[in-house]
Amino acid sequence: MSRILLTGIITLDIIHFVDHYPLEDSEQRASQQIFETGGNTANSSYILKQLGHEPKLAATIADDPAAAFICQQLQQRGVDYFDQWQIANSQSPTSCITINQQNASRTITHYRDLPELQARQFEQIDTHKFDWLHFEGRNITQLENILRTIAGQPHAPISLEVEKDLPDIECLLPYGDVIFFSRNFALQRGFKEAAECLQYFASIYPHKRLFCAWGEFGAWAIQSSRLYHSPAVPPAHLIDTRAAGDTFNAACIDGLLKQQSIVQILQDACTLAGRKCGQKGLDNLITPGDIL
Ligand code: ADP
Repeated sequence: MSRILLTGIITLDIIHFVDHYPLEDSEQRASQQIFETGGNTANSSYILKQLGHEPKLAATIADDPAAAFICQQLQQRGVDYFDQWQIANSQSPTSCITINQQNASRTITHYRDLPELQARQFEQIDTHKFDWLHFEGRNITQLENILRTIAGQPHAPISLEVEKDLPDIECLLPYGDVIFFSRNFALQRGFKEAAECLQYFASIYPHKRLFCAWGEFGAWAIQSSRLYHSPAVPPAHLIDTRAAGDTFNAACIDGLLKQQSIVQILQDACTLAGRKCGQKGLDNLITPGDIL
């Protein structure tokens, strides 16, 4: 069991399952609606909890009814969070997610105006209590300040998720021991495949462990200049690809904490992410004593 600190944003996900993707300006009935806590690091935290770790989320929280729902669900999931950064008269970040049951694709419309975690708030956290520090690559100016402070002290390994090509996001890369690049980021940067993206960044940061998941094609990693790949492990039926990447990242952190080989880590992470795609949501993805 390891103590893992994660920063990012926590969202309310409103999920509609539909039997085909809607046409613009049409009306359609969903077969199911789910309200659920989401956001990349909140999802990864829930997976890490199921993998036997003690995750703790550092994020601002709104004070609307959705925030009460989010906090209650985090508690039910056994995911701890810092509760001191609640913002008065604010609205929870919300993702409206349409899942097309024909191919399990997830289309997300996101709304957010909640101020994000500030470096001066993060200073209240004793990072030495944690065995791993994971950061969602966003809120760039504040996050760079946070990372610079941590880098000046002895610290646990740092992983960084680079999901979107946000302005100046590259200033965060020097601080990550492990970096998770998304397919979305790689494509936005003009790379046609995961290996190309990883090889480019490995030429700048040869001593980091770099990962890049690529949906149904599996995932790639570079460690000590060597490229590794694991194919995807598709479920019998594709049901819901939401949070596949968050599951993949959590499984990699778990494997890295256990000092497994990169081959094993990639295989296990693709297995777990594939299993995730075969079920709705993240509940009971891992059961005690489970072998991947
Ligand atoms: P994200 O959720 O960030 O878009 P990806 O789509 O790259 O992340 O998926 C992460 C991992 O989930 C992949 O490396 C793969 O192992 C698994 N995965 C995603 N989509 C599928 C799929 N259609 N079939 C099997 N595995 C998948």
